[in-house]
Amino acid sequence: MKIVSAEISILDLQFSQEFAETQGSWHPVLLKLVTDEGLVGLGEAGLAYGVGHNGAVGMLKDFVETFIIGANPFDREVIWNKMQRFSFWGGSCGPVVNACMSAIDIALWDIAGKALNQPIWQMLGGRVQDELRCYASQLQFGWDKEGVTWYNLKDPEEYANAAIAAINDGYTAVKVDPIMIDEQGTIENPNKLKGALDKKIVNRAVTRVAAIREAVGPDTDIILELHSLTSLTGGQKLAEACAQFDLFMVEEAVNYNSSGPAETLKKRMPTTPMAGGERVFTRWQYKTYLETACFDMIQPDFCLAGGITEGKKICDMAHTYEVGVQGHVCGSPISAAAAIHVSTAIPNFEIYEHHTNANTRANRNICIQDQQPENGLLVATDAPGLGIDLNDEFVAKNGQTIRV
Ligand code: MG
Repeated sequence: MKIVSAEISILDLQFSQEFAETQGSWHPVLLKLVTDEGLVGLGEAGLAYGVGHNGAVGMLKDFVETFIIGANPFDREVIWNKMQRFSFWGGSCGPVVNACMSAIDIALWDIAGKALNQPIWQMLGGRVQDELRCYASQLQFGWDKEGVTWYNLKDPEEYANAAIAAINDGYTAVKVDPIMIDEQGTIENPNKLKGALDKKIVNRAVTRVAAIREAVGPDTDIILELHSLTSLTGGQKLAEACAQFDLFMVEEAVNYNSSGPAETLKKRMPTTPMAGGERVFTRWQYKTYLETACFDMIQPDFCLAGGITEGKKICDMAHTYEVGVQGHVCGSPISAAAAIHVSTAIPNFEIYEHHTNANTRANRNICIQDQQPENGLLVATDAPGLGIDLNDEFVAKNGQTIRV
């Protein structure tokens, strides 16, 4: 069997008017590899958010033309090594090159699973996790499982209401970034979130987290998300100020420009559980963070860190340090499926991220299947490969496709 063609699609979606005005567009970059036997494998380059998705489209085209057309889809390790060693840019870590490698690798796993009639979790070693405990992620944008719209929450009561909506859906854990939206509902200027932080910003965050804790009671886990917006001093201030709410994790309190700040923060706050890793790529970058004990829970994005092949290795490395795994999921249902398969097959799975954008209609229309948590739990299906198919009509209507 060999790969004979590919389609690279870039979607242009908006969740709501408010989303469009404050966040821009949502741009999942999707890959479809097709074999001479007619099997189709799906992958995603994890750059749907932020700025830079077009970079992934161009690099994917180059990688598919150079390394993938004519390749045996079962040669996952051979292909990964080629992409890393023969592309020049694979010789280091970066979001665009590793996102492309991830998309290709995930599509290869999808093809292999379909060829063998096995779900990917089975090929990775089986169902270690019968079910995945999920948390409701990014409550600052509201929570509505029907995906009606996307809000920027302002008042503490709104944060409390979003948390209650998640609890009513069966979640036992939630995550919130209480600093990124100001009192007017505008995305805060990132420059204001650096350094020692104004007392006003710290107080605003504390009030919002306090409202959530009061609303959900003592038995719900809360993750404090800081999106690497804060630097060492500010991140520490917020983590300390919110410690009274008994946090499950503090996520991305510092940047990833080096592992130094994360290491220093963990040394200053040794008993506060720290999480991070959605902008850490391949096992080599993870090695530094694990050896220096920066994180109690890593958050590799399988559409960024190097795919399922590399992601499984990263998870296994983390296990040797007694570090748990929460795959970062902020993409199309392909990104979710990749995380579900790896999470199901690893012993150090901690919790699964169900993002508020995974509730939205736009995201749920990308694929034919729409796997949503029930009662705050996800169970990987027995369908072969990733177990999902692209909604070609929706993709054609809402994006552009390049054929290779
Ligand atoms: Mg995050």
